[in-house]
Amino acid sequence: METETCDHCGRREESGAATLTWTTSVEHGRRRTYCDSCSRTHLRAMEGKLDSEYW
Ligand SMILES: [Zn+2]
Repeated sequence: METETCDHCGRREESGAATLTWTTSVEHGRRRTYCDSCSRTHLRAMEGKLDSEYW
């Protein structure tokens, strides 16, 4: 069984329906995964041109 782990808050969910709303992105060559709630925060940060390293 595979699980996804949020790279921001550390939340873990079983891969599948629970993680459909999660976001993955590649930053500085590394794959990052964000849960639904962190994705919203992340999108706001991206709109503000802020890198996640500076959260
Ligand atoms: Zn999260």
